[in-house]
Amino acid sequence: MTELYADLLITGGTVINETGRFAADVAVKDGLIVFVGHRDFAPRARRTMAAAGKFVIPGAIDVHTHIREPGMTQKEDWTTGTRAAAAGGVTTIFDMPNTDPPVWSMDALAIKQEAAARQAHVNYGLYGLLDERTLDILPQLAEAGIIGTKLFYGNTTGNLPAPNDGAVLEGFEILAELGLRCSIHAENSPMLFWRENRMKAAGRDDAFAHLAARADIVALESLNRSITLSEWTGARIHIVHESCMRSLPIIRDAKARGVPMTVETGPQYFLLSAEDLVGDKARIARLNPPIREGAQREPILNALLDGTIDMLGTDHAPHAMAEKQHASFWDNACGFPGVETSMRLMLTLVHQGRMTMEQYVRMACAAPAKAFGLYPRKGVIQPGADADIAVVDPAKEGVIRGAELHSTRSRFTPYEGMETVGLPVATIVRGRIVMEGGTVLDAPGWGRMERPQMPKPEPRNLATTTKAILRPNAQSW
Ligand SMILES: [Zn+2]
Repeated sequence: MTELYADLLITGGTVINETGRFAADVAVKDGLIVFVGHRDFAPRARRTMAAAGKFVIPGAIDVHTHIREPGMTQKEDWTTGTRAAAAGGVTTIFDMPNTDPPVWSMDALAIKQEAAARQAHVNYGLYGLLDERTLDILPQLAEAGIIGTKLFYGNTTGNLPAPNDGAVLEGFEILAELGLRCSIHAENSPMLFWRENRMKAAGRDDAFAHLAARADIVALESLNRSITLSEWTGARIHIVHESCMRSLPIIRDAKARGVPMTVETGPQYFLLSAEDLVGDKARIARLNPPIREGAQREPILNALLDGTIDMLGTDHAPHAMAEKQHASFWDNACGFPGVETSMRLMLTLVHQGRMTMEQYVRMACAAPAKAFGLYPRKGVIQPGADADIAVVDPAKEGVIRGAELHSTRSRFTPYEGMETVGLPVATIVRGRIVMEGGTVLDAPGWGRMERPQMPKPEPRNLATTTKAILRPNAQSW
């Protein structure tokens, strides 16, 4: 008879899922949660972790990070990026495809998979690019296990041109049949370039010009187009980094009509405001879409709390410090690191009574897992789920310092000097402790590539798809 020993037993903590909380011990064996229950019935374990006074929550899933490798390792690589995630209580990250090369071929995907497999400290999903040149390989990319695709309607790091709408329509038709979700950077590139060039010609080079180029209308137009194409084709879409309060009624209407969409926002869009960003602060906080007027923060946070915005992502977008120090505002790189600081920022809002822990677990863990086909394997603490766990000390005070970030080539943050209450004190990835007491432990290659198991595809309007009209004499009525 074999001895029933778990690998790890987390004792005395409060388990919090999106549905509620209860006191329970949590046992882990072979990378899975095998027991959640009263301590009197807990199995013996090789190792115990005391969690009295702490919260035991599913590890956060950050659906929006830019790890930068291959091609831009002066900004970040798979080691530094996933160590930053481990430090921040994040057990799974999704990496965006605007690397060099972009993930627009099977070879490019293989290069990224190799780099990630060798270094990752946490689990990862890899996005493929959706544009003109990837339409033919979307089924192959899906077969290879991409977590979804990314569509850059709005121009950003990597300068990938936005695909034309004919290609997007055909891409959505293909994705609708595959069932994969397409994450969309919803800004209108022609509009923002036009406005940017007009301002440059007029001599504007100030902290607010970037926001002016990408005013609300630039996001609203692109959001509406994305919804129209999703609704027509049945392609599942995910609007990344929603920043604009005027988008909210559009999103509510679309969801009420059954458009298969989810939406994400990041802490920067409800914690920072454009009015406060001048000088170096503005350089650090420059990103796409921009930090908007302070009056937009409250509606965005409320939409995240009421579920209009489904989830939290960070748009972790590291750069080398020098790329943020150009004299002309226009030359400064867009984005900043965020994967490490997101959880403590949100725990601080919990401490302030702005949201509950259950709401945080929904937006940071459960909702991302559900949208991208990882639930209930991830996003919940229950027997049978992957042992991806964050142990949180809700009372731990601290100050955010860029110099302490694990994104070692990108040690700046727009939250410099901010006081926080609440901190992840242990991060467990498939049963292995990768961070304890703020120290990230060496676990290169422990992270695993996560493949989505999406619900049955529900494509629409099949009679008029691009594929259908290629047949001779095809009739669409
Ligand atoms: Zn991004």
